[in-house]
Amino acid sequence: RKQVRIMGVPVDQVTLHGAYDSFQGFIDGSDCRIIVTPNTEIVMEAQNDPSLLNVIEDADLVVPDGIGLIYASKIQGTGLTERVTGVDLMLKILEYCHQHQKQIFLLGGKPGVAAKAGENIVKKFSNIKIAGVRDGYFNPEDVPDILEEINNSRADILFVALGAPKQEKWMHQYRNALKVKVAMGVGGSVDIWAG
Ligand code: UDP
Repeated sequence: RKQVRIMGVPVDQVTLHGAYDSFQGFIDGSDCRIIVTPNTEIVMEAQNDPSLLNVIEDADLVVPDGIGLIYASKIQGTGLTERVTGVDLMLKILEYCHQHQKQIFLLGGKPGVAAKAGENIVKKFSNIKIAGVRDGYFNPEDVPDILEEINNSRADILFVALGAPKQEKWMHQYRNALKVKVAMGVGGSVDIWAG
């Protein structure tokens, strides 16, 4: 794993292909691995938010989802070559899930959005099982139940769409309580899948 610092924030020097390779390593592991896809705005925000910086430093894969990050890296000469979007990486992961009959859990979005996204994902990738869905407007006291629901669902992968940086902080806070192999922050991708 090779990382570069953009304005003090670590970002993996990866292409979409390399990010997908890392994901494939995670899915066979034993712990919950975290994927984050910061854009330029989030990298800027992390400079003034030590807890967000810590979350990104602890993530297992940090893909540069912002063209501004690539430009900054070019100016610094630090070697990021291409933008890797969360949308594209999620699509590759869904293809993998279809090929390997994996189960996913969709957490986030307004009520009904995750369920609709799940329906559309299964229409395109018929071998994926939607282990569970849950909207992203819950109270802190609901979290233990949500974690139990995710773990009981036997999902392999959790996609979290609570908006950035809330979703990144949420995954970081609960990673040790999660039995999924991979948790990925996907922001508005769930809305895109819901159509
Ligand atoms: N969202 C959520 N709970 C929240 C805040 C946001 O589920 O408390 C969802 C929102 O409905 C949307 C997704 O998170 O589906 C992305 O939100 P937003 O567009 O604000 O974030 P971004 O895409 O900029 O990360």
